[in-house]
Amino acid sequence: MNGLDAIFSPQTVAVVGASTTPGKVGHDIFSNILKGGYSGTLYPVNPHARSVLSVRAYPSVNEIPDELELAIIILPPKLALESVKESVRRGVRGIVIVSAGFREVGKEGAEIEQKIVSVCREAGVRLVGPNCLGVINPLESVRLNASFSARMPAPGKISFISQSGALCTAVLDFAADRDFGFSKFISIGNKADVDELDLLQYLHEDIDTEVIMIYLEELRRGHEFIEAVKEITSGRRRTPILVIKSGRTSAGARAAASHTGALAGSEAVYDSIFEQSGIIRAESINELFDFAGAFTYKTSTALGKVSRKLPAGNQVAIVTNAGGPGIVATDMTISAGLDLASFQDETIKELSQHLPATANVHNPVDVIGDATQDRYESALSAVLKDEGVDGALVILTPQSMTDALGIAKAIVRVARGSRKPMLSCFMGIIDVSEGVKFLQEHGYPVFRFPEDAAKAFGAINRYSKWLNRKERKPFKLHHHEEQATKIIENHLNAGKTYVGELGGLDLLKCYGFNVLPTELAKTAQEAAEIAERIGLPVVLKIVSEQIVHKSDAGGVLVKLQDKASVMEGFERIVANAGEYSSEAVIDGVLVQKMAPSGEEVIFGMNRYPTFGPLLMFGMGGIFVEVFQDVKFSLAPVSREEAVRMIHGIKGFKLLKGFRGRPKADIRALEKLLVSMSALAMNHPEISEMDLNPLLVHAEGEGVTVADCRIILKRPDN
Ligand code: ADP
Ligand code: MG
Repeated sequence: MNGLDAIFSPQTVAVVGASTTPGKVGHDIFSNILKGGYSGTLYPVNPHARSVLSVRAYPSVNEIPDELELAIIILPPKLALESVKESVRRGVRGIVIVSAGFREVGKEGAEIEQKIVSVCREAGVRLVGPNCLGVINPLESVRLNASFSARMPAPGKISFISQSGALCTAVLDFAADRDFGFSKFISIGNKADVDELDLLQYLHEDIDTEVIMIYLEELRRGHEFIEAVKEITSGRRRTPILVIKSGRTSAGARAAASHTGALAGSEAVYDSIFEQSGIIRAESINELFDFAGAFTYKTSTALGKVSRKLPAGNQVAIVTNAGGPGIVATDMTISAGLDLASFQDETIKELSQHLPATANVHNPVDVIGDATQDRYESALSAVLKDEGVDGALVILTPQSMTDALGIAKAIVRVARGSRKPMLSCFMGIIDVSEGVKFLQEHGYPVFRFPEDAAKAFGAINRYSKWLNRKERKPFKLHHHEEQATKIIENHLNAGKTYVGELGGLDLLKCYGFNVLPTELAKTAQEAAEIAERIGLPVVLKIVSEQIVHKSDAGGVLVKLQDKASVMEGFERIVANAGEYSSEAVIDGVLVQKMAPSGEEVIFGMNRYPTFGPLLMFGMGGIFVEVFQDVKFSLAPVSREEAVRMIHGIKGFKLLKGFRGRPKADIRALEKLLVSMSALAMNHPEISEMDLNPLLVHAEGEGVTVADCRIILKRPDN
């Protein structure tokens, strides 16, 4: 336990700043705790009042004739600091500061906040806030509603962490409408001491929490967060975490000319942090609740053990009594990363026996508008028995003869006999309400629209895939770190922060990259001699610090077969470059051996404040420019993460060998991505890298660097 019990389940609570004036925060919080039926002992602290809501008040915490576990402070910053000192001396174990006016308003507030944190840390007292809505624990044995919200939610198995106080009240309102219960509910405000990671770890240990939902604005820990959360989502006693993230963030990537810089907006960092740690992202609050329903869905096994109902794969069966919604669900299924299962012959035979001739016995199964509970029941049991089916979506639209309650009961009967998840969509409100209620009361997820059910199925499937990911042995890699340091130092000492292809290739070689013979020519004659020495055919590339994208300036010529075309090519690209930019200083022309053929891919690296190096992988050429088909990962990138990135892009199909193309050397790519991560981790002076393209050859034949650009910058410290 990380000392958070005093915050969530205290025996005694003092409300410092409890007010007699209704509408004031200090009044309402006290009133909400009182009216919420708190099971412990409550003390208002107010030097100017004899009592608050008929409860005797004390002038200070010192006067309270009892041990104190939790102090909830609603006072302006300076007084709050004094009160924190007093409370700590008085022996409290936890503090919640609700009031605002701290770091979020400026320097003075930030200083007071920092002092408060020091006082708490020194005493080993945990602090929630300041600038938060408070804490709620609805469980029968505690019933603590220390919040602005007059509504105490029902007790349940989901915990909610919010970085926005205002959102909390809306969520509570929404939850009440949906009959949603909570285990713990907390608003973290400025996160001066307790942050989301502390809470995630606490809730992971909490036997009353089965799923954690979190509303996040920004994170202040990167890789440490990923490592800890991985353990929560997929280690011992797995707890799924669902997140909704607002766009606002303080960790924007530095403006950069590289692809990585342009693509790696802050959202990409967060998406990669979530993916790397197994957190499931929802796009809206509605979706968050939809997902939570699917994630709390459980099954009892024969041995009486209760486990979460997750699909073993992405093959879904749809059973519907209406064609239209069935089509919507089918479309959504595909975009949620699922597939429509194709049924085995026995399944089709069984369906034909039980369904009328007009029914569709193939997926999506249409049991026809007049379907009764019997028809649903036999169709559902038939499809769930099919080995090729991992779960089902049941769709019901109310027709005059539809018995929603009866069908709900049939769903529960079938579900009890199967380990496969079944998500229901009862369309409409009034006509289906009894059926919906029955399902909800029995813990079966039910949705209003087929797309919501499909997305929720997609979410549990993603989680299931995360849990079943393959562990891979790490690569054994040997790098020439010292040699690389020397190259970097030589550049920086000479005042160079831009490392072009020539210097860059030397650096990459130290980390196991395969590079091509490359030399700089100052004249056409020299170019021809170099070409002859390294072997034709060659590539010519303009070298100028002012020309970042060489092809745009007509500065690249490939596949030059003989000396004459090399000489002619030299003159041509120098002329092109001059036309492109009259200010460009031209250092010469690179003569590079033509690489053997391969698929073009791109590796990138960009350094973020707080989070460190972010790596990017994607298919090269138009794939990166037009489709932005890329994946990110915060370094250090393990082999597993490299696999996730490489296998995760849409263009991966091309690498696996598509329509007669040879299968590419994917393992070599994985190795290099891990090496690139090591390069970024070992050398903080590298601020950006762009390897575009790398050419991936056929399996076993490796990868060749065909262009690179590296930016150096001494880290500020
Ligand atoms: P830039 O990205 O600055 O325009 P590149 O060095 O990437 O210039 O060259 C442009 C394109 O030329 C590459 O994307 C690649 O398709 C091709 N190319 C570059 N160097 C080689 C090489 N050594 N072998 C084969 N093709 C190459
Ligand atoms: Mg390039």
